[in-house]
Amino acid sequence: MSDVLVYALHYQGAFNKNSLGAVCEGAARAAEIGGECHAVVVGGSGLSDDLCRSLGHYGATKVFRADGPEGLAQPVVDVFDQVIAEHGHRYAIFGGGLLGFEIGAGLAARRQGGVTMEVTAVRADGSELVAERPILGDSKISVSRYRGELGIIIGRINAFEIREPGGADAEVVDVAVEYSPWSKRAELVTRGEQRGADVDIEGASILVAGGRGLGRAEGFAMAEELAAAFGPGSAVAATRAVVDAGWYPYAAQIGQTGKTVSPKLYLAAGISGAIQHKVGMQTSENIVAINKDANAPIFEFSDLGIVGDLNKILPKLAAAIRARKGG
Ligand SMILES: Cc1cc2nc3c(=O)[nH]c(=O)nc-3n(C[C@H](O)[C@H](O)[C@H](O)COP(=O)(O)OP(=O)(O)OC[C@H]3O[C@@H](n4cnc5c(N)ncnc54)[C@H](O)[C@@H]3O)c2cc1C
Repeated sequence: MSDVLVYALHYQGAFNKNSLGAVCEGAARAAEIGGECHAVVVGGSGLSDDLCRSLGHYGATKVFRADGPEGLAQPVVDVFDQVIAEHGHRYAIFGGGLLGFEIGAGLAARRQGGVTMEVTAVRADGSELVAERPILGDSKISVSRYRGELGIIIGRINAFEIREPGGADAEVVDVAVEYSPWSKRAELVTRGEQRGADVDIEGASILVAGGRGLGRAEGFAMAEELAAAFGPGSAVAATRAVVDAGWYPYAAQIGQTGKTVSPKLYLAAGISGAIQHKVGMQTSENIVAINKDANAPIFEFSDLGIVGDLNKILPKLAAAIRARKGG
């Protein structure tokens, strides 16, 4: 069998973007190795026939629907385990995100599958799939081939593109799953979006990105003020260092383990320009960096560099833009 099984995470009646990308990728690659792409969806009453069928528009021919708790890894591992045992899928693909990592790792252990994480490209080589993963700060690519019965591919966030929806509905197959006792030991108490998750970082034409140079969480007020001065189409982004420190939400993180953006203007304030950050913003049309260290790596790939203290520069810049706009 050369079929590919993809996990489709959903929330409030819509599929997650990374999951839809994974379905599109799974469908394209399955076709190349002579198989089909199927999807697994887990959930209760919110899981309508129409929603499940709509995965066909992204290339899934069949959707295995299981009644169970959505948003936790172990129950989804149980569903994948059962579906693969019954139907013999050769590959499992997950879009980027922590849940995908957890499910993929659990599935690898359960079925003794090979697993590759942070995959940025999948290609067919004869009847096999091969996964590519950047390593050593994205300076090299490692290529994974799979031995054994199951190959597991976990994408990097936003690695798999969503193609234009179209085509036939998917067939929906209900599966009754016997969940492992430990799968029911955790309960999802609440689920929601982080502060800032509603901001469209990827769609913004101007991004004011803040790094550790902002000094503390409150320092982001300066970045927000500047973005507000630029007006609609502007948003605030962040480095992983500040997200890890809890200064700004993960939804705003740019880089290797965050989002990839290409705005018209990327204004980096107090960001050193580490390779893992650079890979997420280097295709911006114009990069302006403010840093007090004239030797900061970010200046090597900036169109305009301002050497100075952001605490003085950001408020003045915001005031100048407001004055120019007459506000
Ligand atoms: C596997 C892996 C994945 C990663 N993924 C990501 C990712 O997705 N995104 C990401 O961003 N990072 C990522 N990182 C982390 C990355 O390596 C860097 O540690 C991080 O980007 C540094 O963040 P920063 O620039 O905010 O902080 P720093 O490197 O500490 O830089 C702070 C900068 O602020 C400047 N500064 C300080 N005070 C002022 C001031 N008053 N005025 C002006 N400038 C000032 C300093 O000169 C310095 O250049 C990853 C790392 C690993 C190992």
